[in-house]
Amino acid sequence: MAEPDIVLYGTNWCSDCKRSKKFFGEQRVAYKFVDVDSDAEGLALVERINDGKHVIPTIVFGDGSNLVEPSNAQLAAKLGLQTTAKCQFYDLIIVGSGPAGLTASLYTAREGIETLVIERGGVGGQAGVTERLDNFPGFPEGVTGADFADRLRAQAERFGVEILSAQEVTRVSIDGQYRVVNTADGGEYRAWAVLLALGSTYRRLGIEGEDDFLGAGVHFCATCDGPFYRGQDVVVVGGGNSAGEESIFLTKFANKVTIVTRDEHLSASKIVAEKVGENAKIEVVTNASPVAFKGKDHLDRVALKDTRTGEERELGAAGVFVFIGLSPNVGMVKDLVKMDNLGFITTDASLQTNVPGIFAAGDVRAGSTKQAASAAGEGAAAALAIRRYVEPLASGMPNAEAG
Ligand SMILES: Cc1cc2nc3c(=O)[nH]c(=O)nc-3n(C[C@H](O)[C@H](O)[C@H](O)COP(=O)(O)OP(=O)(O)OC[C@H]3O[C@@H](n4cnc5c(N)ncnc54)[C@H](O)[C@@H]3O)c2cc1C
Repeated sequence: MAEPDIVLYGTNWCSDCKRSKKFFGEQRVAYKFVDVDSDAEGLALVERINDGKHVIPTIVFGDGSNLVEPSNAQLAAKLGLQTTAKCQFYDLIIVGSGPAGLTASLYTAREGIETLVIERGGVGGQAGVTERLDNFPGFPEGVTGADFADRLRAQAERFGVEILSAQEVTRVSIDGQYRVVNTADGGEYRAWAVLLALGSTYRRLGIEGEDDFLGAGVHFCATCDGPFYRGQDVVVVGGGNSAGEESIFLTKFANKVTIVTRDEHLSASKIVAEKVGENAKIEVVTNASPVAFKGKDHLDRVALKDTRTGEERELGAAGVFVFIGLSPNVGMVKDLVKMDNLGFITTDASLQTNVPGIFAAGDVRAGSTKQAASAAGEGAAAALAIRRYVEPLASGMPNAEAG
């Protein structure tokens, strides 16, 4: 495989390096990481670019140009990503480009509903960063998350959907018959309807060392960070499907993967649990919870507590991957729409929230099944309800429901 032509010079402890790495990971852009703590040539190059100073991340691109401590907006501009919409008004604005958002978009755009999708990360959502989808209908051999996301994007764009990426929606509000969407760069867009396809985010443990070693041994995405642990021992926290599947993925790189679950056995599906059991590189430690992540500049061990006896012990690990569930991404709409007691957005049968013209679909919706195929299905169902809502408004019919 050809060497990536983007080289990120940084360290494992620098938070801006981690942010840039995450950005490239989300955008599925290949890059090479050079740790200037251990690579003298890399350090010399950083100092040469920065007039003798040690400023990281310093990112060198294939065309010979470089960016030093870039913001995500600068990185997006350098990669040529579209972060600003062409118009101020659309029939429909979809927030989130996972399977729910993109499926809805291709349905609506195909029917002539002008659709803008705004995505804060990379196109494809969680499905896009999943190593492999084995259970999405129509892919008998399975499909990599990246390929799946690229296909969805191409299909949506074929029908004329406009997609912004690396652009966060900071507010959704109502102005009479219009729904208003504000973005992190100060942009404001209006539409007849908004679909919240916001998905969920990895839940954190909230234990000592979790923040300190973020990106320096503590990770939430095996696809993004697993390859850093080639030949080393890693720990996976959690006992569900994500923990099981990602542990199997990590065995491609790691020497050994220890799954730590507080329960008596894995709660993953039978198939996943069996695959874990068959993998000689995976050990499962039950009835145990991590209580601290420890190390110096980088995590090197995990303190575990026996959930039955309270006894503590330490387990050596170069990295730990936490897969303990998801929290809905609802921060910017929490004062706008109704949610259940876990914070997932509630809707009626047509997937409309309590606010007319604001719909929700996929993992962010209360009662959703947290699967790519069902998220896509909800996207399609929402699109049909949105069409019924938008068409009278767009054609100026007096019985339009907005208000
Ligand atoms: C590790 C892992 C493995 C999985 N494996 C499988 C599998 O094998 N099979 C399967 O069916 N499912 C699998 N899933 C679940 C599947 O990926 C999800 O169910 C699916 O992606 C949900 O789709 P969604 O569109 O609802 O949300 P998401 O895919 O989460 O997309 C939501 C998008 O909204 C964006 N967003 C959120 N807030 C904002 C904002 N304020 N502004 C702009 N954008 C915003 C997010 O960045 C995200 O891209 C897996 C998930 C994970 C994490």
